[in-house]
Amino acid sequence: MGVPNVQPLNYEELFMDQTLQPAAPAPFRLIMGETDIFAFSDGTLSAPVGNLYRLESSEPTPERFPEAPTELSVNVFLVKSAGRLVLIDTGSGALFGPDHGKLRDGLAALAIQPEAIGDIILTHIHADHSGGLMIDGKQVFPNATLHLGRTEADFWLSPGAADAPNATERLKGQIARAHAMIDPYQNAGQVKLFADEGEIIPGFSASLRAGHTPGHLTIFYKEGHDTIAFVGDIVHGDTVQFKNPAVTIDFDYDQKNAAHSRAICFAEAADQGFTIAGVHIPFPGLGKVTREGDGYRFEPVNR
Ligand SMILES: [Zn+2]
Repeated sequence: MGVPNVQPLNYEELFMDQTLQPAAPAPFRLIMGETDIFAFSDGTLSAPVGNLYRLESSEPTPERFPEAPTELSVNVFLVKSAGRLVLIDTGSGALFGPDHGKLRDGLAALAIQPEAIGDIILTHIHADHSGGLMIDGKQVFPNATLHLGRTEADFWLSPGAADAPNATERLKGQIARAHAMIDPYQNAGQVKLFADEGEIIPGFSASLRAGHTPGHLTIFYKEGHDTIAFVGDIVHGDTVQFKNPAVTIDFDYDQKNAAHSRAICFAEAADQGFTIAGVHIPFPGLGKVTREGDGYRFEPVNR
């Protein structure tokens, strides 16, 4: 772990009070053998992404990123295989205002009750990934086992984490929200920790891709010869960071490691040809990564 960069902006502070958004697009289905992968749009964040990218400087240099987007999708993914519904991340729930948290509408459009979700795996514990766990003080997914990587859970949820001498007010706020979302599941005996590498449940495995958060993960799902990688926040947008994976974003807890993890992720996706599913890639956030010049290009699935 390198030394964290200048104090990161707070995800929640930046995105709260989002303006009115159009209705979310219908869920997108990708068929993978006997499995359906569904992408849901949980909402769209208005964000000055050009001001948030970082390259060789901790100061904003938006003029260097003319292709930066001005909004970011928040996608949620569901793996539906025989007898099993596994959600990867949960969107922001009620934390970003009424125009977000549309995962529930997406599930309803597929006639899937939240009670039917048996497993949830989080790529990391930021609010736009864990916020959908609790709404109005109630567990949205009362029957789900919540699977968390050990490093990520330790970072946010360890007793005394918010009392560490270097914990900023912003970090304390994030830790409080992490507890608000996850403690009810913990208290109900529904949280299971997994090692940062290796199998989580049959078909699903994890690789530590730290940097964006200390325990940020890629979650792989394999069926036969097919693989899909749920890459969480390894990338924001579909252009700038593919062209140059060294471009980081202000929210990365550890900029250097985030860039390193992104480079590994893109190289393995390009070399092995598997599909990636990105939370902040334009909806549905699914596609392939190919090499182009010194960098990469994102090729979205056909819609
Ligand atoms: Zn995110």
